[in-house]
Amino acid sequence: MSLAFAPMSVVTLPVQGTDLQFPVRRVYCVGRNYAAHAREMGFDPDREPPFFFCKPNDPESIVPVAASQTMTLPYPAGTENFHYEIELVVAIGRRGSSIPVEEASSYIYGYAVGLDMTRRDLQMKMREQGRPWEIGKAFDFSAPVGPIRPIEDTGALKNASISLRVDGETRQSSDISHLIWSVDEVIANLSTLFTLEPGDLIFSGTPEGVGPVVSGQTMVGAIDGFPDLTVKVA
Ligand code: MN
Repeated sequence: MSLAFAPMSVVTLPVQGTDLQFPVRRVYCVGRNYAAHAREMGFDPDREPPFFFCKPNDPESIVPVAASQTMTLPYPAGTENFHYEIELVVAIGRRGSSIPVEEASSYIYGYAVGLDMTRRDLQMKMREQGRPWEIGKAFDFSAPVGPIRPIEDTGALKNASISLRVDGETRQSSDISHLIWSVDEVIANLSTLFTLEPGDLIFSGTPEGVGPVVSGQTMVGAIDGFPDLTVKVA
């Protein structure tokens, strides 16, 4: 057999404190998982079960960002409202489906800091029309992610401050304890819909304060205990 062209390479994320690389399989994202963010998007956070969307897993979509690096992202085509969403990313290390909540943390390989970059104007237009969100969420360079910290080093994360600064000014500031659906609940729910596999990433949702960035601005995403994620918009 000969391939017609070289297949795409697998995106890998460095595992902090090791010389291992974590090969990325699927990229799941949770929508509206902090109450104050659900409200700022015009929804009642109390009555919504978790819902999910996906991002592509190719090297044009997932952007590994090293700890001490400033990664430059191109301003994407087709939008005039390019938004940041800082998120805790959960890396899955075991295969499982219909995982009980109380066992969920044993499926976690580790955690990382990620940005769910969003073409908000396109997402909102699709939302109004009841159409899929891909053009707003699943575009090139839409998912910068920092190194993974293994759960052996962090323990199962329940509390950690999470924030995003743009050019030094704080725009998002919360704590992962404010997640509506905890990481364990997200894993349990998602695994009733898809078989989770090692390599899967789950963007767990963003707190309130989402907003636009423009060319020349620098975002610094931070979660307590993790290296800063620094991304500049070209
Ligand atoms: Mn998000």
